[in-house]
Amino acid sequence: GITKHYRVPRRGAWAFGHQPVHAADDADLTLRRGETLALVGESGSGKSTLARIALGLTRPTRGEVALGGVPLASMSRRQVRRDFRSAVQAVFQDPAGSLNPRKTLLEILRGPMLLHGKANRSTATAAVTAILEQVGLSPGTSFLHRYPHELSGGQQQRVAIARALSTEPRVVVADEPVSALDVSVRAQILELLRDLQRQRGIALLLITHDLAVVRAIAHRVAVMYLGRIVETGDPDEIFTAARHPYTRALIDATPHPVPGARPLARRLTGEPPSAIHLPSGCRFSTRCPDVMDVCRAVEPLPLAAGSGHVSCHLHTHQPVAS
Ligand code: SF4
Ligand code: MG
Repeated sequence: GITKHYRVPRRGAWAFGHQPVHAADDADLTLRRGETLALVGESGSGKSTLARIALGLTRPTRGEVALGGVPLASMSRRQVRRDFRSAVQAVFQDPAGSLNPRKTLLEILRGPMLLHGKANRSTATAAVTAILEQVGLSPGTSFLHRYPHELSGGQQQRVAIARALSTEPRVVVADEPVSALDVSVRAQILELLRDLQRQRGIALLLITHDLAVVRAIAHRVAVMYLGRIVETGDPDEIFTAARHPYTRALIDATPHPVPGARPLARRLTGEPPSAIHLPSGCRFSTRCPDVMDVCRAVEPLPLAAGSGHVSCHLHTHQPVAS
């Protein structure tokens, strides 16, 4: 039930005060133990906001984040710092920006291990070496003393992944982990994330706008549009028989057509409406090729469908034949 409204200054000479941006509205997401859940949608759909809320970095306006049934809001500061932060780790889009430029790799990786009791002073260097090996870097002593700017983008992201793993987390939230990298290294980094997720039984929340990434590693998919989760389901189902018109349009817009998918030849036209002036009724109604009268008046509620759910009147109202 996560809702997040930001307040932005009104524009124009007449107006004053603030108006809310609806970054997330009553969004429900369950990340199951040991699964990779891909959260997809265009930029501005609220994916990163939801990721930051899941990480405990941003507070929701309403709603609750819980880890293993324990609400984050009920934890003491100490529990958040000690237990939640070590259990829920992040990998961000820009590895250069997420690694401290003034610290060596040894320092970057040793810090969280010491803080969360995963190593002590005498075991830290060996532990750092071991974790670098697990992310495909085979470090000699000189490597440990390098700074982030001495590495390639792909190596930096490997270090960021190693840092996320250094606390032995149950959950990793990765927000567009390969989209800032050279195309040539994206597949390797994704493969690494997938292998580590499997080996360690981590629950991975993977935020992406790229459906090819989803096909490569997701166990389940959630589609977000203008702050709402509009469809969830297994990837096979989503890619071959998506129920929500927005999901179908997203799939049709991917450069790698999916074998077996129905050729719907749908195109997403126009930009998404602003998250300040939301359309009434269904938020997708201004762009939806299947829009009906009811869509502009009534917002569709999530309905159980197949392996997940969908929020669309097509699945509750039959269009009137003309
Ligand atoms: Fe399209 Fe209506 Fe479904 Fe919204 S509710 S996605 S406008 S058919
Ligand atoms: Mg984002």
